[in-house]
Amino acid sequence: MTVATCNSKSRASSSLLHTPSADGDSCTHPRVIGEECDNCGEYVGPDYGFYFGYMLEGLRLSPGEAARLSEMETRRLFKQKKLVLVLDIDHTRVHSVADKDLNTEEKSFLLENGGSLNDCLFTLESIGLLVKLRPFARTFLKQVSTMFEMYLYTRGERRYALDVTELLDPEATYFGDRIISREDVPAGFKTLDMVLGHKNSVLIVDDTESVWPKDKENLILIERYDYFAKKSTTTSHRYCENGTDESEFAGSLAKVLKVVKAVHEMYFESITVRRRNVRFILRLLRSSILEGCTLYYDNADHEANRVCLMAKEMGAKCSMERNSRTVTHLVSFEDDTEDISWAVQEKKFLVNPWWIAAAYYSWERQQEEEFPVADVMLDSS
Ligand SMILES: [Mg+2]
Ligand SMILES: [Zn+2]
Repeated sequence: MTVATCNSKSRASSSLLHTPSADGDSCTHPRVIGEECDNCGEYVGPDYGFYFGYMLEGLRLSPGEAARLSEMETRRLFKQKKLVLVLDIDHTRVHSVADKDLNTEEKSFLLENGGSLNDCLFTLESIGLLVKLRPFARTFLKQVSTMFEMYLYTRGERRYALDVTELLDPEATYFGDRIISREDVPAGFKTLDMVLGHKNSVLIVDDTESVWPKDKENLILIERYDYFAKKSTTTSHRYCENGTDESEFAGSLAKVLKVVKAVHEMYFESITVRRRNVRFILRLLRSSILEGCTLYYDNADHEANRVCLMAKEMGAKCSMERNSRTVTHLVSFEDDTEDISWAVQEKKFLVNPWWIAAAYYSWERQQEEEFPVADVMLDSS
């Protein structure tokens, strides 16, 4: 196992912030350091405007100033044919665990195989964490860096964010001072208000949707990466204890790379301003994935379920009734044998709900046969 030592980088202040001051008489307090206006010195309190402390200690910008700088930044990047990409860390690009939380299977696997993982498994000694990079993480960064200005945005601590950045970006070429961590996220949720860039030109890649309550339209949800058993949400993907890993070239980051490339291309090919909008493009791409499918769920309560909303976002119609003429798929949550018999008889596709989630993460309709309802249910039909 390789031990990498990480030193924190000093925060560089962005050149964008050196803008002319407003006239003292009619100061709109565009920039605040701490709790006082940087221009007129007036006290404005601790909750003023939007927080940009990750760029310069204590910096806050008025909404107007943030919008002005975002506009400038978007224009500057447009000339370089770039958009902004905001990346989460945990379960998106890495999975980290404290040494003490490894289970017996993991310990013995790492003892025997740690050497072969020396370019993707690291120990952060200062905070006692073991960090496993997701397969394709470095390739992903290299490829998107020509198309996007990148931010790291995590609810983890700054110390940890800087250490992980050093593992992913040892030459410090990708992120600069654009690293937003727990100390910068007073509200607890994540917001693009802290990112310089027009919302029409910013993409987010994160494994958690709920942390982006205001900016879900910019989000590309990625399947959660669980390498270790601790904090894993599924039992099937505990790669370490099973001695396996996610596929590098057919895995989640490779799939997301295709999507961000497609969005970038469509954005810069767009002739109208309305279409030069990542929110519009994501909606458009997503809404064609299950076009032509009409789904019937074997439990109406699940209509409100997240998975049904996903299906609708992907262009599927959802039928409230078991209509032989219109329904194309029975999505089986409930093992209802009567519904299953109906689907078999009517020659409808019969899938488990994961068929929908898998399409949502892959941005592609999946082979129905790969998502069967349990064999035992089919036997009884
Ligand atoms: Mg995460
Ligand atoms: Zn002022």
